[in-house]
Amino acid sequence: MEEKIHKIKEEFISKSEIANNIKDIEKLRIEYLGRKGVLTLLLRMLGTLSSEERPKIGQLLNQTKREIEDFLKTRIKEIEKAERDKRLQEESIDVTLPGRRLDRGNLHPITLVLKKIEEIFFSLGFKLEEGPEVELDYYNFEALNIPKDHPARDDQDSFYINREILLRTHTSPVEIRVMEKQQPPVRMIAIGRCYRRDAADSTHSPMFHQIEGLAVDEDITFGDLKGVLTVFVHRMFGEDRKVRFRPGYFPFTEPSAEVDVSCLLCQGKGCRACGYTGWLEIMGSGMTDPAVFQMVGYDSEKYSGFAFGMGAERIAMLKYGINDIRLFFENDLRFLKQF
Ligand SMILES: [Zn+2]
Repeated sequence: MEEKIHKIKEEFISKSEIANNIKDIEKLRIEYLGRKGVLTLLLRMLGTLSSEERPKIGQLLNQTKREIEDFLKTRIKEIEKAERDKRLQEESIDVTLPGRRLDRGNLHPITLVLKKIEEIFFSLGFKLEEGPEVELDYYNFEALNIPKDHPARDDQDSFYINREILLRTHTSPVEIRVMEKQQPPVRMIAIGRCYRRDAADSTHSPMFHQIEGLAVDEDITFGDLKGVLTVFVHRMFGEDRKVRFRPGYFPFTEPSAEVDVSCLLCQGKGCRACGYTGWLEIMGSGMTDPAVFQMVGYDSEKYSGFAFGMGAERIAMLKYGINDIRLFFENDLRFLKQF
């Protein structure tokens, strides 16, 4: 009997060394320790042994059972560790391989230009103001000294929603809305989308972005206008660019001036891009017309101010050398990734 038990133990050990996964170990456990297991059956037979043999064999059987249980536990740990090591090996990363490159986005050229414009005017003490894109005829035209029959309305063919409501044709109505709410001093810029019924071509788009600025205070002069806009041109296009103020006409400013910057391509000598003039027009400006101040209830004897307006697309075209405005709105990544 004792010999039989030793044999069972040896047989178990050799089998368990072959078993190299948890499933096989579980099978072994059932084979030896399960309800009908080899050892379980022997333990049940104890009762049939003689009273001299019983304690000795009983002790040996119990000891063998414990040894087998311990052995199984150890084996399970070994197998689990081996499986874990194998998995880590498989999942390990070769840090010397080159990484997969992520496609990085970048800001749209118009956004870049608008951010730059904001930065320049913020540094000069101007504050950002906003207004609606769907605007009343009153704010878009009448309060800006452009009554219903005014010829200037022809220059700004508009998208009307009804007789009194339209998509704003410029950001100037924001000036009126700000002045209605606030007494001078005012130093503001407004940036946003504007709409005109223009057929799209290389220089026109029915939707475009405008930047508008206004400063109102006591003793604001044309010299202030020239100073601020010259600083703007130098920071936007470079210190070496020349600025020219040319008489112009806008219904809401008097006197008015078109602002030109010396041509980057020919350095002012004259080329195709500048129409052989050496100059490129970048914005309109002027001293706010007293009629506009009267509309918002400002004392035009006490206060004076200047205003300016420019198209973000035109500024971006001149800054980056782009010759077709439609490129900004076609969402062609080959174009957009260059900025
Ligand atoms: Zn030129």
